[in-house]
Amino acid sequence: MTARTISILGATGSIGQNTIDLIARAPDDYDVVALTGAGNVAQLAADARRLNAQVAVTAHDHLLEDLRTALAGSDVHAAAGTAAITEAAHRPADWVMSAIVGAAGLAPGLAALSHGGTLALANKESLVCAGALMLSTAQTHGARILPVDSEHSAVFQALVGEDIASVERVIITASGGAFRDWPIEDLARATLDEASSHPNWDMGQRITIDSASMFNKAMELIETREYFGVTPDQIEVLVHPESMVHALVGFRDGALMAHVGPPDMRHAIGYALHWPHRRDLPVDRLDLAQIGQLTFRAPCETRWPALRLAREVMQAGGLAGAVFNAAKETALDGFIAGRITFPDMAAVVEDVLTQISAPSGQIDAPMTLDNVAHVDHLTRQTAQQVILKRAG
Ligand code: NAD
Ligand code: MG
Repeated sequence: MTARTISILGATGSIGQNTIDLIARAPDDYDVVALTGAGNVAQLAADARRLNAQVAVTAHDHLLEDLRTALAGSDVHAAAGTAAITEAAHRPADWVMSAIVGAAGLAPGLAALSHGGTLALANKESLVCAGALMLSTAQTHGARILPVDSEHSAVFQALVGEDIASVERVIITASGGAFRDWPIEDLARATLDEASSHPNWDMGQRITIDSASMFNKAMELIETREYFGVTPDQIEVLVHPESMVHALVGFRDGALMAHVGPPDMRHAIGYALHWPHRRDLPVDRLDLAQIGQLTFRAPCETRWPALRLAREVMQAGGLAGAVFNAAKETALDGFIAGRITFPDMAAVVEDVLTQISAPSGQIDAPMTLDNVAHVDHLTRQTAQQVILKRAG
């Protein structure tokens, strides 16, 4: 068997490191083309050396010299900057992991799709901002997108061999995050540390906070629609504190197929890595007798307004997803910087969505990378003003 060529965008993050953990177990099976990162140049260089990558790229121009120094004496080429990341994504590879966090993952993801092959997509923001563009780019170039989100990988697996027309509903589960059981009136006092600790999953800080606010699940509602072409009213969210059942697919004959597994992203990553085969993966096997019981409850939209906002965004269509994502990213920055409270994040996003709504014409522009970037920029400016008002 010849080695598969692979690239990892966002290699230094939580998903990136889990991906490296899997491929490092069978180094002869893979030829690493590109690894990209941002601030953590030491990690990037160490992995690039260890995996003998062709190129390592940091998003930050000013870190190029540091990266070069860290790679001195190796064959790895060093590069820096946003354009260099997209260029690296452009390099042909059989399998590309898209695991940059945020809208910054969109252009590299599109670049990777443009040479065919398989894009393992963890960067959900690119689907939320520009789902139709991602899907049409994949189709044009004969590329395949495989979901790397535990819920969407679960749905994808439950649909193997099934006719999508026989699907009645798709249910994605949510742990409820850090504040699931907090009194709602206490949320305004939630600290960054409290919001950054997840009860079940070990993930990057941004997605962990998004889990507590359910903005993560809100994005996943939109992601579900894009991946599987189901209508918004076919998609449900179910709170499941144990995070063992990742998603369920309900069929027209009443059957409900659930995907059950430990909360370990190496399952979804490994499934996408080996698809259409199943190979051994180093994830814990569940002992259901020992676990004893699993619990479920309906999500409360007062606690988690993000879920309602996502449904409004799906209803609006067009570039509303790009507005939603950029407003959410800016609000999250505001919370991380201590400028707004935890519940303010949803209030900011709602305010921005109202300001940049259909009458402005902005969200009705054709979905091109330029238009998405324009709306993203405009939204971040608007969101900054809204945050300034609240903070002041
Ligand atoms: P993370 O913060 O741990 O890592 C993010 C990666 O992106 C790092 O390599 C970082 O260097 C890079 N990066 C950050 N800003 C960048 C920029 N402006 N330009 C280029 N690169 C940049 O994040 P994560 O938790 O690994 O999540 C990555 C993506 O996967 C996100 O879209 C997230 O929603 C999604 N996801 C993550 C998990 C999880 O378990 N962590 C689960 C499902 C989906
Ligand atoms: Mg998920």
